[in-house]
Order: sequence, then structure tokens, then C-alpha cells
Amino acid sequence: MIIARSATELRAAINGPVSFVPTMGALHAGHASLIRLAAADGSCVVVSDFVNPSQFGEGEDFESYPRDLDGDAAIAEQAGAQILYAPSMAEIYPPDFATTIDPGPLAHELCGALRPGHFAGVATVVVRLFGLVGPRRAIFGRKDYQQLAILQLVAKDLALGIEIVGAPTIRDADGLALSSRNAYLSAAERVQAAALPVALQRAAAAYANGERDAAILAAIGRNALDGVELEYLELRSAELAPYDPEHLAVLLVAGHLGATRLIDNIVLDPTAPEHAVAQLSTKEYA
Ligand code: AMP
Repeated sequence: MIIARSATELRAAINGPVSFVPTMGALHAGHASLIRLAAADGSCVVVSDFVNPSQFGEGEDFESYPRDLDGDAAIAEQAGAQILYAPSMAEIYPPDFATTIDPGPLAHELCGALRPGHFAGVATVVVRLFGLVGPRRAIFGRKDYQQLAILQLVAKDLALGIEIVGAPTIRDADGLALSSRNAYLSAAERVQAAALPVALQRAAAAYANGERDAAILAAIGRNALDGVELEYLELRSAELAPYDPEHLAVLLVAGHLGATRLIDNIVLDPTAPEHAVAQLSTKEYA
């Protein structure tokens, strides 16, 4: 695997159609699964490793976000990446950089309502990275469900010609979704954090038993969230429009354990309600 420190090095190393996995580093088994998925069709897999300041709000964890390029290189190579692109801040944000991509109303809902500017920061850096990397397709985790939905919208609206692929959430044994931010949790908080997937599972079990009322499903989830400072627990359609009991839905949760913010979600399929973790189908936009 080649570690490219600049776009020039990156371009010299690319040797075929690219499948791209953008990350902020601190790689774990969730990222490795995205990389394996990217590698599955034999394409040239580029993983970017860049902690993007513009998606962090005032008082958020940009400074303290875990950084470990050597560890990331080992995980990326093992998972099948050909290139780890670790650009400098100046390459991503040159002094005259002036463009911001506004992904529209969805960027101001759910996580966007609590993290103003976050999704504009994500969309802007991802589109810039798309320009530098030139991928045929890009893989994102469904763990960050709203981010995936917004990037699918951006790719479609801007006719980027890049296939945006959603990948399943990888979890710890107790169900907690893997996240670089889990490293911030104290031992006691780590135990309590399992309340998030438990809340989703309980609501999904009620859904599988025929419950379709959004308020009741949300209340079932909320009752399992003892110890979590809840930001939201909301049922939406799979496209993040208002919930419709007859169509594919998603239950999304965000909350704090101490200073650590965690998110999770579960897809609910009325045609196969027992498959609570039904996956949002891969979407292709030209
Ligand atoms: P980040 O952790 O913010 O650097 O995310 C980089 C990519 O990895 C995003 O597409 C995330 O959705 C994805 N990702 C993060 N955690 C997981 C997980 N537990 N399972 C699957 N994908 C994940």
C-alpha cells in the first residue's frame, strides 16, 4: 500500500478505476469493512485520512479527535486498500478556498439541527476529495445514516457521476456501533452506551409485532435510554421524509454519555418487519 501525502503522489499511484473510502482516520473494524467492500470488485481502493475542521462546531472535539496514521495504515492495508491518501490541511483548504456546498433543508434537521454547519462541512470536503481522487464510486457507512442520505442527494443534484454506496453498520459484541469516538468513553459510560442499540432493538421488536404508531415506538425506545442524555429519537421514512407506516422507515437516535456524542439507527421494513436491520439498498446516480 502506498501512503500518498499529496494529490500529486495520489495521482501517480492510482492504477485503475477507483473505489473511494473517505475517513477521518482512527480506523476500526467498521472502516475496514467499508474498505473490504470497496476492494471486492477489484477496483483501485483509495482511503482518505483527513480530520476535517469544517465539520466540527464550536467547542466540539476537532483538537482532541484521535489521530494515528501508522495504525490507520496497518488497518487500511490489511483490509485491501492500495492507497492511503493523507493530505495536508493546506492541500484541502488552500488560503484562497472560498466555496461551501449547502445540501439544503435536510442538512438542518436531526443532527444538523444540533450541529449547525456540520453537513455543509461534510458535503464540501467530500466533494473536494471527490475532485482530487476522481472515484467511480464511494463507500459510506449507514451508521451515519443522515450523512449517507445527504451525500446521495449531493451526488445526484450535482450530477457528480459517482455511485454512492451504503455499507452495513459494524457493532461490538453488546451491539454498540463502532465509532472512533467510543474511545472517549469511560468504562462505566461504555457499559451504559449499549442502551442505544438496546433502545433500537426494543422498538424494532415492537415493530416486528405489528406496532406502527410513531409515538409508541419512540416511547418504547426512550424507556430503554436510562443514563443517556437524549438529543433525539425519531422515526422517519427511509429517505428521511416524515414517517409513513406503510413504507420503509428508519429509527434514528442521538445522545450524549458524559461529553461523548453517539448516534445510531435501525431500518424498519414493513414487508419484512422481522428483519429489523434491513439494509437501505445501494443507490446509483449518474
Ligand atoms: P468516520 O468514522 O467519521 O471517519 O467515518 C468514515 C466512514 O466510516 C463513514 O462513511 C462512516 O459512516 C463509516 N463508519 C464509521 N463507523 C462505522 C461502523 N461502525 N460501521 C460501518 N461504517 C462505519
